[in-house]
Amino acid sequence: MNVASTRDRLLRVAVPVPLRRLFDYLPPENAGPVQPGVRVRVPFARREVIGVVVDLVDSSETPAHQLKAASEVIDQSPLLPADSLELLQWVSAYYQAPPGEALAGALPVALRGGKAADSWASRAWRLTTEGKGLPRDGLARAPRQQALLQLLLDAGQIGKSGLDSAGITTATVKALKDKGLVEEVRGGVEPPPLPAAQPAPPPELNDEQRTALEAVAFGRFSVALLEGTTGSGKTEVYLRLIEQALARGEQALLLVPEIGLTPQTLRRIAARFEGVGIAALHSGLSDGERAQGWLAAASGSARILVGTRSAVFTPLPELGLVIVDEEHDQSFKQQDGVRYHGRDVAIKLAHRRQVPVLLGSATPALESLHNALSGRYQLLQLTQRAGAARPPQISLVPTRGIAMVEGFAPDTLRHIDETLTRGEQVLVFINRRGFAPTLACEDCGWMADCPHCSSHLTLHRGRRHLRCHHCDFVQPQPHQCPQCFSAAITALGAGTERSELMLQQRFGQVPVIRIDRDTTSSKQAMEELLRPANAGKPCLLVGTQMLAKGHHLPRVTLVVIQDADGGLFSADFRGAERTGQLLEQVAGRAGRGELAGKVLVQTRYPEHPLLQLLLSRGYGAYARHLLSERQLTGLPPHTAMALIRADSEEPQRGEQFLQSCRQQLEYWQPPATELQYLGPVPALLERKSGRFRFYLQLTAADRVRLQKLLAPFCQWAEGNRFPGVRWSIDMDAQDL
Ligand code: ADP
Ligand code: ZN
Ligand code: ZN
Repeated sequence: MNVASTRDRLLRVAVPVPLRRLFDYLPPENAGPVQPGVRVRVPFARREVIGVVVDLVDSSETPAHQLKAASEVIDQSPLLPADSLELLQWVSAYYQAPPGEALAGALPVALRGGKAADSWASRAWRLTTEGKGLPRDGLARAPRQQALLQLLLDAGQIGKSGLDSAGITTATVKALKDKGLVEEVRGGVEPPPLPAAQPAPPPELNDEQRTALEAVAFGRFSVALLEGTTGSGKTEVYLRLIEQALARGEQALLLVPEIGLTPQTLRRIAARFEGVGIAALHSGLSDGERAQGWLAAASGSARILVGTRSAVFTPLPELGLVIVDEEHDQSFKQQDGVRYHGRDVAIKLAHRRQVPVLLGSATPALESLHNALSGRYQLLQLTQRAGAARPPQISLVPTRGIAMVEGFAPDTLRHIDETLTRGEQVLVFINRRGFAPTLACEDCGWMADCPHCSSHLTLHRGRRHLRCHHCDFVQPQPHQCPQCFSAAITALGAGTERSELMLQQRFGQVPVIRIDRDTTSSKQAMEELLRPANAGKPCLLVGTQMLAKGHHLPRVTLVVIQDADGGLFSADFRGAERTGQLLEQVAGRAGRGELAGKVLVQTRYPEHPLLQLLLSRGYGAYARHLLSERQLTGLPPHTAMALIRADSEEPQRGEQFLQSCRQQLEYWQPPATELQYLGPVPALLERKSGRFRFYLQLTAADRVRLQKLLAPFCQWAEGNRFPGVRWSIDMDAQDL
């Protein structure tokens, strides 16, 4: 059908619904020319939704009488420029995600509704023609209005801060506006202000840093992996690269993990680039602040954008450099909806825009390391700690057959004591929060389990409740066994809360500071809590992996890893990689200043070969060994992997759905060496929030092969109804 001759062109719209297709609409009556990238309000299934126009077309597969008209074009000019639209369509195709969800996810929440983008523009006031015609003392009877008149006659235009410093209220402005003497003008969007920072002179680069810096060429696409031990001065290299991009008149994008964007990091960037527009996008902001930062980047008034994974979708008209810090971090992978990997999208972005991208980490992901070792990426290394800091000395503390004191070996406690006595700081890493992983009855063996998940409930003693860390189910802490009514119920194992209590009792002479999700839920909490540590006083920090990143605490000289064993025996093939990264990162918190650092790793298996390798030769050698193991077993990154996930309330529905998926897939592509199927198998957490979870695993020699199979598969699965089953595709899945 061709409607071009009779009507305006059709709008092809990405509508935020879970369907893998676009929808065509007629333009609204009396609409002017519409450009791709603008938001439109459209009717969809008896309601109205906000979509984004991705294309203008002359013909549609939708029959003419079924085409509906959009009800409103919201933006005058595109909110998403052409290159953002293209990147998002690539994301939608690569991750097999509904395009409408991918596009909606790229907009800050405050812009997903119909709110006008210039709501965040800076406001200023100037005189109207009539106002300019007044004599200087024309308002002498109203002294405040008179003052504003003179100010505007002198300055031409004045913004909010100018009014404030002249002591003029908005009521006065309104009075003159009502008389038609003053009008408002909208300026550009400026990023929200950052915390104040003391400018600090940059250090002299060492040879390795200089080599890394010189290896990055601007103005064309390249990927470099900066493998640099903790504290080796990677951030300093980022700052120098950003400086160069700014000098070239370009914008720089710095992606950081979710908990990596600490006020400390932001201050360091703000201190280096005084007077430069810097936008930070992270979860600690209000929706309005996020929109403001996003728009400031999109308009070019922000020259540096620092943000967590979704910041990769922010339009940056003059992008010249992309940096991904802690590129191995799991928080770069979105775990629901559009399951994209922020690092991989960043590489795609850099490629499309023909700019360099630098991936930095002390513990690179095996994916990135593989690409660097095979020559696809440039490998840059920083092997020495920067400045005066020396690498910490790491030792194992065997715990099997040792009389432990609430999870600590006597040897460990002695070291803590000695360190505190010397006036230094200690960090104790525990990989779970709460008081204890569960409650159990000594008489009948009952354990506190979540009624909705296949997991135990965690005891939180401070709040006197049991909580599920998977679905947030909460129940009061019982004082007798619900099964046999015995009062002999005990807390099994130790979390941060229990260790905090025990360490407080034992080392009460210094502050014991607990850092985990429960103690840092408010925005400023982390900084508040860390104050004594930053002041350099002796103290004991107890926390989860929140403590592993971003904090530079030069007086921490002892790091204790309470239990190194969990991940080494994980059923997930990435378990060993994750454990190695975590141990190395936590250990890297020790001895970052002038004082030497020591790390104690408690383990029941001191003879474990992987642990031995990690300790004797470091993460670099450990990771290279894991890579060769993955090659032998045909696992990523040597192969490409996607999961089809399904869950259902009824135990078997999801599994049955995946069985029919496998049949259909095998009909299209019989299993072969280049393409293997596994499953359906239960997810590691088999039941979550009352739903049974399964996955079907597809492993292929290359990604293209997977893509070719998954695209038609999605069409097939969307076209068939499987009542009670939710399913999703997880391309490059990061957990099982
Ligand atoms: P990373 O990002 O690798 O953890 P940082 O860039 O944070 O390392 O550097 C660690 C510490 O060393 C910081 O306090 C930083 O200011 C300092 N530093 C970095 N480079 C140098 C250098 N070339 N000379 C002296 N100090 C440096
Ligand atoms: Zn009991
Ligand atoms: Zn639960």
